[in-house]
Amino acid sequence: MSDPRSTRTWRRARAAWAPVVAAGGVACRRCGAVLTPGEPWDLGHPEEAHGRAPLTPELLAACRPEHVRCNRSAGGRGNTPTAIVTAPPGVLW
Ligand SMILES: [Zn+2]
Repeated sequence: MSDPRSTRTWRRARAAWAPVVAAGGVACRRCGAVLTPGEPWDLGHPEEAHGRAPLTPELLAACRPEHVRCNRSAGGRGNTPTAIVTAPPGVLW
Protein backbone atom coordinates (compact mmCIF):
# COMPACT_ATOMS: atom_id res chain seq x y z
CA MET A 1 0.00 0.00 0.00
CA SER A 2 2.97 2.31 0.46
CA ASP A 3 4.68 1.66 -2.83
CA PRO A 4 6.72 4.84 -3.47
CA ARG A 5 6.16 4.38 -7.19
CA SER A 6 2.54 5.33 -6.74
CA THR A 7 3.34 8.82 -5.55
CA ARG A 8 3.16 12.07 -7.44
CA THR A 9 6.85 12.58 -6.78
CA TRP A 10 7.63 9.31 -8.47
CA ARG A 11 5.53 10.15 -11.48
CA ARG A 12 7.33 13.49 -11.77
CA ALA A 13 10.69 11.75 -11.73
CA ARG A 14 9.56 9.31 -14.37
CA ALA A 15 8.14 12.12 -16.50
CA ALA A 16 11.47 13.93 -16.28
CA TRP A 17 13.24 10.88 -17.66
CA ALA A 18 10.74 10.23 -20.45
CA PRO A 19 12.19 12.68 -23.00
CA VAL A 20 15.71 11.53 -22.18
CA VAL A 21 14.80 7.91 -22.88
CA ALA A 22 12.90 8.94 -26.00
CA ALA A 23 16.00 10.69 -27.29
CA GLY A 24 17.90 7.41 -27.11
CA GLY A 25 21.26 6.46 -25.66
CA VAL A 26 20.10 5.76 -22.12
CA ALA A 27 21.41 2.46 -20.77
CA CYS A 28 19.19 0.13 -18.78
CA ARG A 29 20.11 0.22 -15.11
CA ARG A 30 19.87 -3.55 -14.88
CA CYS A 31 21.42 -5.04 -18.00
CA GLY A 32 23.32 -2.10 -19.46
CA ALA A 33 21.74 -2.36 -22.91
CA VAL A 34 20.54 0.90 -24.41
CA LEU A 35 16.82 1.48 -24.09
CA THR A 36 15.19 1.65 -27.50
CA PRO A 37 13.06 4.79 -27.88
CA GLY A 38 9.42 3.72 -27.81
CA GLU A 39 10.18 0.57 -25.89
CA PRO A 40 8.37 0.11 -22.56
CA TRP A 41 10.52 1.05 -19.59
CA ASP A 42 10.25 1.46 -15.86
CA LEU A 43 12.06 3.84 -13.58
CA GLY A 44 14.26 1.54 -11.55
CA HIS A 45 15.26 2.44 -8.03
CA PRO A 46 17.89 1.32 -5.51
CA GLU A 47 16.93 -1.79 -3.58
CA GLU A 48 16.99 0.17 -0.33
CA ALA A 49 14.10 2.27 -1.60
CA HIS A 50 11.76 -0.70 -1.51
CA GLY A 51 8.87 -0.12 0.84
CA ARG A 52 10.36 3.04 2.24
CA ALA A 53 8.46 6.31 2.27
CA PRO A 54 8.89 9.12 1.69
CA LEU A 55 11.04 8.85 -1.35
CA THR A 56 13.95 11.19 -0.68
CA PRO A 57 15.64 13.32 -3.34
CA GLU A 58 18.78 11.25 -2.76
CA LEU A 59 16.96 8.05 -3.63
CA LEU A 60 15.28 9.64 -6.61
CA ALA A 61 18.64 10.86 -7.90
CA ALA A 62 19.83 7.25 -7.87
CA CYS A 63 16.88 6.07 -9.94
CA ARG A 64 17.50 5.13 -13.56
CA PRO A 65 15.36 3.82 -16.39
CA GLU A 66 15.26 0.06 -16.90
CA HIS A 67 13.65 -2.28 -19.41
CA VAL A 68 10.27 -3.39 -18.16
CA ARG A 69 11.39 -6.99 -18.56
CA CYS A 70 14.51 -6.33 -16.48
CA ASN A 71 12.62 -4.46 -13.76
CA ARG A 72 9.90 -7.06 -13.40
CA SER A 73 12.30 -9.99 -13.25
CA ALA A 74 14.82 -8.38 -10.94
CA GLY A 75 13.35 -9.45 -7.63
CA GLY A 76 15.91 -11.07 -5.39
CA ARG A 77 18.74 -10.81 -7.88
CA GLY A 78 21.88 -8.79 -7.60
CA ASN A 79 21.89 -5.11 -8.34
CA THR A 80 24.35 -4.11 -11.03
CA PRO A 81 24.20 -0.39 -11.69
CA THR A 82 25.40 0.34 -15.19
CA ALA A 83 23.99 3.79 -15.75
CA ILE A 84 26.12 5.96 -18.00
CA VAL A 85 24.05 9.08 -17.68
CA THR A 86 23.21 11.40 -14.84
CA ALA A 87 19.79 12.48 -13.71
CA PRO A 88 18.27 15.00 -16.12
CA PRO A 89 17.35 18.52 -15.02
CA GLY A 90 14.06 18.47 -13.22
CA VAL A 91 14.60 15.26 -11.31
CA LEU A 92 16.21 17.09 -8.42
CA TRP A 93 14.25 19.75 -6.67
ZN1 LIG B 1 17.59 -4.18 -19.32
